[in-house]
Amino acid sequence: MLFGKQINRYYLKHAPMLLLGVLVLIAVDYFQLLVPEFYQMVVDGINEGEVPVDGVLRPFDMDFLLEEICLPLIVVILIMVVGRFLWRICFFGSGIKVETDLRGRMFDHCKDLSQQYYQVNKVGGLMSLFTNDLETVQDCFGSGILSFCDALFLGGLALIKMAGVNLPMMLLSLIPMGSLLAVSTVVGKSLQKRWQTRQAAFSSLSDFSQESFSGIAVVKAFVKETKELMAFHKLNKENEDANISYTKASTLLNISVMLFVESVICVILGYGGYLVYSDVLTPGELVEFIGYFTAIVWPIMAISQLIEMRSRGKASLERITELLEAPIDVKDNETVTDVEHIAGDITCKNLTFTYPGGSYKVLEDVSFHIKAGENVGIIGKTGAGKTTLVDLILRTYNVPDGTLFLDGRDVNTLPIQTVRKFCAYVPQDNFLFSDTIGKNIAFASDSEDPALIKQAAELSDVHDNISEFTLGYDTVLGERGVTVSGGQKQRISIARALMKDASVLILDDSVSAVDVKTEKKILENLRTLRKGKTTILIAHRISTVEQMDKILFLEDGKLAAVGAHKELYDTCPAYRTMVELQKLESLGKEDRSND
Ligand code: ADP
Repeated sequence: MLFGKQINRYYLKHAPMLLLGVLVLIAVDYFQLLVPEFYQMVVDGINEGEVPVDGVLRPFDMDFLLEEICLPLIVVILIMVVGRFLWRICFFGSGIKVETDLRGRMFDHCKDLSQQYYQVNKVGGLMSLFTNDLETVQDCFGSGILSFCDALFLGGLALIKMAGVNLPMMLLSLIPMGSLLAVSTVVGKSLQKRWQTRQAAFSSLSDFSQESFSGIAVVKAFVKETKELMAFHKLNKENEDANISYTKASTLLNISVMLFVESVICVILGYGGYLVYSDVLTPGELVEFIGYFTAIVWPIMAISQLIEMRSRGKASLERITELLEAPIDVKDNETVTDVEHIAGDITCKNLTFTYPGGSYKVLEDVSFHIKAGENVGIIGKTGAGKTTLVDLILRTYNVPDGTLFLDGRDVNTLPIQTVRKFCAYVPQDNFLFSDTIGKNIAFASDSEDPALIKQAAELSDVHDNISEFTLGYDTVLGERGVTVSGGQKQRISIARALMKDASVLILDDSVSAVDVKTEKKILENLRTLRKGKTTILIAHRISTVEQMDKILFLEDGKLAAVGAHKELYDTCPAYRTMVELQKLESLGKEDRSND
């Protein structure tokens, strides 16, 4: 059986079902142990010609066989069949319910974990928790209770019956079984460690496979298939070694069980034969004793299975517990109070930020004010801290108190969900779901109104592209459907964000993959559509942001300058240099295309 903070609650929750299972199991065990008594009657009946039944001697004939052996035996067998069916439903059914509930809780917890958690813990590893480990825990829960109860009741009852036939022979049989228990305990500990290693190896393997499949385009482009294959072989070999190591220990345990079972049979046959020879036991009683022992071979096996299963289950449960207890590090303060509306006024006061576990300040002493309804561009070299800044506005990470304000309220005093509810975001890696284009666009909104979806697509200048697909907005994207270009992906993501019509729209480098003409069109649409609403646009090209009300120019995590394009050009030499360089670059490109 498996115990732990995250699983104990299920014993209570499924108590009626489990209790019914245990009661049925005890009844089945009781009836199962009636069978050896029939053996005894038959063997002694054959030997002596008559059999005592309730103190009366009855001749051993066909009537006796039918009335006292066959019919009762059929009833016993029927009860056992129905009972076994019932307890299987009770134990395994609860195991499946536990698995489903745990999976739901894990998913629920996962959705609250911060982005940082997913940067440290890989998807492949998480997937193995949701598949392999959960299955092991489920198996251990249902079968664990079964093995435990069976070992306890069938084993206990059989031992009592064996003692009833002959106490010294029962005690002698206990010696090898005691040794088995000692060996099992030692091997069990090693099994748990080996299972942990095996699961870790499997996680690495699935991490690697997942990354390889996701990055297949890069692998192929750099002709690195062989390198990937070698790396996969290495991990596969490690997984194999861990599997073999576990199987070795588990086989050792199983063989030990067989060894001890066989030694008990030796004891019974040797010592029991001697007792029959000395007239202490009848041959029928010896067969009955062997019948009881045969009945407890399964509980003995169950103990070893229980030890093996528990070792696996404990290791898997530990991994699941680790996930379930992973702290939710980005969460609401206890003092947050909700607001009806956020207009989109953003103030940053001496904001300094270091990533959790990071060693340097990614943003340093950043201060600015964005009035509600302003169009703001953020510009700066790669790594300057632009994405980090918008991630902080979206509360993806914890923000130091008193540094970031929305509508004059410290973001830490607002519920995170509210902050995000009033923002729409187009991230740099435009993730689209394997679903229809229409549903992808409607994702951010409560409405799936085709007219609104079409309007959003028109504003992000992707409607014409979508119309070219045979199924239009019903075209399925991703693994199960068509692949769209980087620029189309960006524009579908913009359409998704526009569907929300939020007070603050944040676009992180979202027009980098579209041509200048399309970019212009989208920016114009944004200006018209989002009048009175805040729009923040991270860009690399100055041309993308030069029309904006305000530009934040970041350099190495510091805000080098804030102001309109002309103002920055006149007052900030670094900005001016950047503008000149980009002008030269685009002139170069034009020249090359004219040649
Ligand atoms: P930009 O958007 O201007 O290109 P980023 O905000 O993405 O820059 O990154 C700024 C710096 O922070 C970079 O040096 C980057 O390596 C680092 N960084 C980004 N994300 C993380 C993270 N999750 N953990 C630690 N460092 C990070």
